[in-house]
Amino acid sequence: MDFEFSEEQKMIQQMARDFATKEIKPKALELDRTERHPAEIIQKMAELNLMGIAIPDIYGGGGADNVSYVVALEEISWGCASVGVIMSVNNSLVCDPIHTFGTEEQKKKFLTPLASGKKLGCFGLTEPEAGSDAAAQKTTAVLKGDEWMINGKKNFITNGNVADYCVLLAMTDRSKGYRGISSFIIDCKGPGVAVGVVEKKLGIKASGTAELILEDCRIPKENLLGQEGQGFYVAMNTLDGGRIGIAAQALGIARAALEAAIEYSKTRMQFGQPISKFQAIQWMIADMATELDAARLLTLKAGFLKDQKQRYEKEAAMAKLFASEAASRITTKAIQIHGGYGYIQEYNVERHFRDARITEIYEGTSEIMRLVISSNILKGR
Ligand SMILES: Cc1cc2nc3c(=O)[nH]c(=O)nc-3n(C[C@H](O)[C@H](O)[C@H](O)COP(=O)(O)OP(=O)(O)OC[C@H]3O[C@@H](n4cnc5c(N)ncnc54)[C@H](O)[C@@H]3O)c2cc1C
Repeated sequence: MDFEFSEEQKMIQQMARDFATKEIKPKALELDRTERHPAEIIQKMAELNLMGIAIPDIYGGGGADNVSYVVALEEISWGCASVGVIMSVNNSLVCDPIHTFGTEEQKKKFLTPLASGKKLGCFGLTEPEAGSDAAAQKTTAVLKGDEWMINGKKNFITNGNVADYCVLLAMTDRSKGYRGISSFIIDCKGPGVAVGVVEKKLGIKASGTAELILEDCRIPKENLLGQEGQGFYVAMNTLDGGRIGIAAQALGIARAALEAAIEYSKTRMQFGQPISKFQAIQWMIADMATELDAARLLTLKAGFLKDQKQRYEKEAAMAKLFASEAASRITTKAIQIHGGYGYIQEYNVERHFRDARITEIYEGTSEIMRLVISSNILKGR
């Protein structure tokens, strides 16, 4: 077993860290306040090959491995969690399924602009009545001649208000249950697609979370992604990879909070000495650092297994479960170490606390992660 990163992984980590330090972190507070899409940052990330980092370069990607993806996404999310999720969705939930299930034509037409960051993607699975129960899709797709006609409503779609393309799930044969779901590539700017409500949220405020309304949306027959009826498998397979991304996002948020807490504890004087001299503070820092390291090891392991083309469903769920819950605990302690100042907007830890919370919910809640982990274990995997 080798705990050393390769030279390429170290270079990617350094590049992402430098970029996050110079271009993202200084803007994070403003992005949280204005809730605006950070287009200029995403454009620069595209130039650094961060929008399709693990996609082969022949399709416009960075040609790196999934460990590099984890490492880079932790750095970007350390800078700003909203930028982190925009990157995560484009990489894991859009580029990855098109690369895995797409035809050569789909890869040329859609994957290349998405992975090179010229276009931005979103992933449309959730509906008002299909959240954790993702198979309860109401959106329908009906083949009419050479076109699919899609009708329905998706909600909570990250990047939904700004995306060019959407990997979208819809029911093509209700009689077959989840085996009657298919996946498609939709042009979000095309006819029949409208952006509905853009949600106001607790955290990750610079990441748009929008409704997508599909009314007689016609797309060419060849925009079916994978086989007809394979959509639920496409979605679950995609979310396995996505969970590695959300775990990495949680790492970045938690590390930012831990670093802020360490720094503050060394400078805040009470009872004539820095608060870092108190054992109560030292123990919190010890617990935070230990949890962060454990979360990172789980996340890197899941990325490594994906690179080795081994099963990683259970490990990705474990990484997401532990990293997200650890991020919530770590950011809570970071506020505690800051005392009253931790509760004030000017100090970044209240933002980290708000941003961490979503990682326990999207791409499968902690409860669903426990179901995935236990069902794998009980099947002997
Ligand atoms: C900011 C944000 C961004 C998002 N981005 C996207 C996106 O890009 N694309 C997309 O498709 N979706 C997206 N989502 C949707 C997200 O994945 C869902 O919100 C999530 O899966 C939970 O679904 P739900 O909100 O309907 O909650 P519900 O499924 O209604 O769950 C409510 C509660 O019940 C629990 N529960 C449900 N079923 C079970 C069960 N079987 N056993 C035990 N407990 C259970 C849940 O864990 C939760 O605690 C996003 C959501 C948010 C808030």
